[in-house]
Amino acid sequence: MSAPDPRRRHLGGQRWEGVAVEAYKAADEPFRGVTRQRLFGADPGGRSELRYFEVEPGGWTTLERHAHVHQVLVLCGHGRALVGDRLVDLAPLDALAVPPRAWHQLRAGDDEPLGFLCLVDRERDRPERPGAEDLAALRARPQLAEFVRADAGGAPGPQSR
Ligand code: MN
Repeated sequence: MSAPDPRRRHLGGQRWEGVAVEAYKAADEPFRGVTRQRLFGADPGGRSELRYFEVEPGGWTTLERHAHVHQVLVLCGHGRALVGDRLVDLAPLDALAVPPRAWHQLRAGDDEPLGFLCLVDRERDRPERPGAEDLAALRARPQLAEFVRADAGGAPGPQSR
C-alpha cells in the first residue's frame, strides 16, 4: 500500500485532476463569473487552504472584508484589485497581500480570464459586505467609484461555465 498521490496533477487550462470546479459563492451574492477550485484544504493536519479562483473577462469577486488575510498569486490573465483604499494592476506572477479588515475586490480585464491562487487559514471569520455608509466612503474617491461593484446577483456572467 502506498500513500495517496500527493500531487494535484495539472490537466491543462487551469484544471487539476480530482479537483472539482465549484461555485465561488451562492448565486445571489454580489459577484460575476467566478469559479473556485480547492487544491488543498480538507487534508488532515493542515491549517490553511490553497484555492484557485478564475474570474471570467469583465467579472469580479465580492467586495468584502474580514479579519483573516489573503495571500494571492496571479497565475494567468490581467486585472485590477481594490485593497483597502488602493487600486492596483495585476499581471501573471504578481503576488498580492490582503491585510486584516481591508476591503477587497478583484476584477478581470475585458479580454481574458484572471486566474489566481489564494491562500487562507482554514479556520476563518465570515466575510462582511459593505453597508451603505461603507460604499459611500469608498465611492467618495472617484477612482474607486468607477471600480467597485456591489450590486446583487452578479452571477452568472455572460461567459460563465
Ligand atoms: Mn476575502
